[in-house]
Amino acid sequence: MLRRSPRLAEIPEYVPGLTMAEVMREYGLRSVIKLASNESPYPPLPEVGAVIAAGAARLNRYPDGAGRELGAVLAARHGVDPDQVVLGNGSCELILLAGQALLDPGTSVIYPYPSFGLYSHLAAAAGARDVPVALADDGAVDLDSMAAMVDETTRLVVICNPNNPTGAMRDPEAVEAFIDLLPDDLAILIDEAYFDFVDRPDAGRIMSLVRRRENLLVLRTFSKAHGLCGLRVGYGIGGREWIAALDQVRQPFNTSSLAQAAALASLGNPAALAARMAETVAERGRMAAALDELGVAFTPSRANFMLLRAARSGAWSDSLHQRLLRRGVIVRDGGALGCPGTVRVSIGTPQENDAFIAALAAELDGPGASQALNEATEDRATP
Ligand SMILES: *Cc1c(COP(=O)(O)O)cnc(C)c1O
Repeated sequence: MLRRSPRLAEIPEYVPGLTMAEVMREYGLRSVIKLASNESPYPPLPEVGAVIAAGAARLNRYPDGAGRELGAVLAARHGVDPDQVVLGNGSCELILLAGQALLDPGTSVIYPYPSFGLYSHLAAAAGARDVPVALADDGAVDLDSMAAMVDETTRLVVICNPNNPTGAMRDPEAVEAFIDLLPDDLAILIDEAYFDFVDRPDAGRIMSLVRRRENLLVLRTFSKAHGLCGLRVGYGIGGREWIAALDQVRQPFNTSSLAQAAALASLGNPAALAARMAETVAERGRMAAALDELGVAFTPSRANFMLLRAARSGAWSDSLHQRLLRRGVIVRDGGALGCPGTVRVSIGTPQENDAFIAALAAELDGPGASQALNEATEDRATP
């Protein structure tokens, strides 16, 4: 047995969903629709393909480790100085780096639950204390309860807004009041991975606070709206001490030259992106109406996914994701995300969303449903 850190045993395992190829093989399907990982249904913008092709010839050279060109564009966009920007190999890397830079045994991290699974890695990896705080009844972060957990051991407070996997969003005004309430030497990380899908005029309010709150770090990513999750690039905008701390623990070349170039190219066409976001937001509304019509309960979402609860309870709804798989639609089992009895479905193209609604309707009403119910009863009867 390898000599290794006992902390490894504490780190929760990430269980990825099935790939499209796996589902096709397993269920003998010709085609499947993947609405499981909150990915963009659209390919990257055409200009991204062009810069990647051009950059391929220069891959024998290391990238600009500081990502200065992309950093300058992001700084200008958010009205901060370039030393308030940090790039990450996806925003996931920045979340992990925050844990490395801030936590020690004897300290603690406060974060919402159920939320993004990676947050629960931080304390485990650092040997620090984990303080998960249950979401409020509306599915958004419970700021009062989180504030109440802050003590002298707290080194980091994380919030996810809109929250994954619920999609619910806390008002920026309330988040600002929460930030004002916390000690100004306590690091606050606000994960805004789904910012682009928020259709509210005050959506950017928290990012603008970075200019006066040195203890704040706001994370954004190119993985969702920009459709670049395969390339791995995200960023943080924050106070200078926050950025310096992350820079100290990151590897010198953490984002690739292709990722930097692709992000720049994608930022260069805001109109195309806005059109895609508008379609996703409109589709989210259409999905909500269709779910209402089917009598399926869901959490109102400001993100590119929805968490829904099928009317039946117990094993039937716990295995709904498997039933949808057989119909060629991959969604995420809410049970794997801390929300048993639910499924999380990402918003796809209009055609993909129609296919999902049709599959769900067939499961709820079709002849398969009563059979499924029987199976579920048998499942439960078996100890
Ligand atoms: C998808 C997601 C991210 C983005 O991760 P990347 O590493 O940038 O791909 C970050 N936070 C949350 C809550 C997410 O759902």
